[in-house]
Amino acid sequence: MEDFNFKKKFGQNFLSDVNLLRAIVRDAEISENDNVLEIGAGAGALTVELAKSTNGRVVAIEIDKTLQPILNEKLAEFKNVEVVFCDVLKIAPADIAAKFDNKPFKVVANLPYYISTPIIFYLIENNLPIESITIMLQQELADRIVARPNTKDYGALSVILGLYGTVLKTRDVPRTMFTPRPNVDSSVITIKINSSVRNDIREISKVVKGCFALRRKTLANNLMSAFSLSRDEANEVLTSCDISPTARAETLEKVDFIKLKDALKERTSI
Ligand code: SAM
Repeated sequence: MEDFNFKKKFGQNFLSDVNLLRAIVRDAEISENDNVLEIGAGAGALTVELAKSTNGRVVAIEIDKTLQPILNEKLAEFKNVEVVFCDVLKIAPADIAAKFDNKPFKVVANLPYYISTPIIFYLIENNLPIESITIMLQQELADRIVARPNTKDYGALSVILGLYGTVLKTRDVPRTMFTPRPNVDSSVITIKINSSVRNDIREISKVVKGCFALRRKTLANNLMSAFSLSRDEANEVLTSCDISPTARAETLEKVDFIKLKDALKERTSI
């Protein structure tokens, strides 16, 4: 590992503290038969702890093939681990599901920060049978995800993930725990997925993103541009949900977005 050339462009900030790695596995509540998807195996420190914690399958995706010799050596003793070298955002979701015979799996990852948000949307919008997601993120993003309405941090991601499941910030992790040391601190969040919304989350996501597209604009204005509605149509959709057309998205509770999604679905193709 000493001679490994860390690649900043891949967000390579590795962990090595075994207590922290085990704490993340505990946060994920991995039990002995769970299947686990890890995104960004790095040098395999978290992969090893995941492999020890279950007899189910552990599939770790890693973009950087130069890590292969290190991972081969580190993971040789674990027969339940497979490392797939590719860009996670380029794998067909069906191919990920097939790795687990279409059975449920948990996601555990110390995510590369430069693409944390696209990875989160990839995971939740593709109808994968995910039971829970436990991810290390930069603290600022984690704070946005757990934010409450009427705060500056509350936005599309807080609403969409809050509807997708029960979200909890389980720990803050200082930058000193990573090699090389990043410029920001991190946090771990867990999301226990509410499987009844899994099929709807793509539509919910579209509505929420539309409502927050221009934060300073009223909901009526955002709905008009996101869903090609006239002002009268936008006002009618909102009032049918008991929402003021002049309100702003950040004042709505998460359940209001479900009502809006249903009302929009009746009138437009979303
Ligand atoms: N899991 C390791 C750990 O905790 O020490 C490494 C975490 S590091 C923050 C993120 C890892 O994701 C890096 O190894 C990086 O090469 C990998 N990565 C970056 N972009 C990726 C992508 N698009 N698909 C798959 N892996 C990626």
